[in-house]
Amino acid sequence: MAKDFRCSVDELADFKAPVIAIIVGEGSTSTFYVDERLICQQSAFFKAALSKSWTEGARRVVRLPDEEEKVVHAYLHWLYHNKVACLDTENDGYSLLASLYVFGEKLLDKTFKDVIIDCIIATSRGLVVKDGTTNMHRFPAKESVDILYQGTSEGSPARQMLVDMHQVYAKETWINGDANHDFLVELTTALIRNDRYTASARLHNGACAYHCHGKDEQCPSKRAE
Ligand SMILES: [Zn+2]
Repeated sequence: MAKDFRCSVDELADFKAPVIAIIVGEGSTSTFYVDERLICQQSAFFKAALSKSWTEGARRVVRLPDEEEKVVHAYLHWLYHNKVACLDTENDGYSLLASLYVFGEKLLDKTFKDVIIDCIIATSRGLVVKDGTTNMHRFPAKESVDILYQGTSEGSPARQMLVDMHQVYAKETWINGDANHDFLVELTTALIRNDRYTASARLHNGACAYHCHGKDEQCPSKRAE
């Protein structure tokens, strides 16, 4: 069947919305220009940052000196195109996905965080590497665990997902002396509780167990394209 190019007139894009500048990095910076209304609808962080009164002609600028260009670029791409550009990157994309989750945390963007959880789970299911006669799935470990633990706080569903994945699938090589301390405490506690069956059930019941949306809110995984 041929692609249907039509949509409702209610879906017309707003080309009259003001544009803001996001200046990323310190010293050598990159500037991104974004539809203000679009990013404020999605992120309470940007809404608060841009809520200060301003005089006509003043530049609308948000500075993000501590962020990486590739992280902000990937977030903005998702904002406009509903896709996360995480394939064909180093470390199976997990380091970038972990950084994106932490960025979503900073932006107070629950939907984006839920989408990144879906991307991590999809990556863990989709990476099949031939190792002799064995097919091996790869999971976020080491660096990505450290990024996620440093950028989230206790009770984060992303932390729960990492602990669950380690309980169910980890090999000894996943853990080394540099492992994040909080992560080791939570993983050890789960192992002492012998929580593996519950962890496996959560992992196999879909990503919703690790989402931030409320029961009455729409799950991004089930949202129509
Ligand atoms: Zn959900």
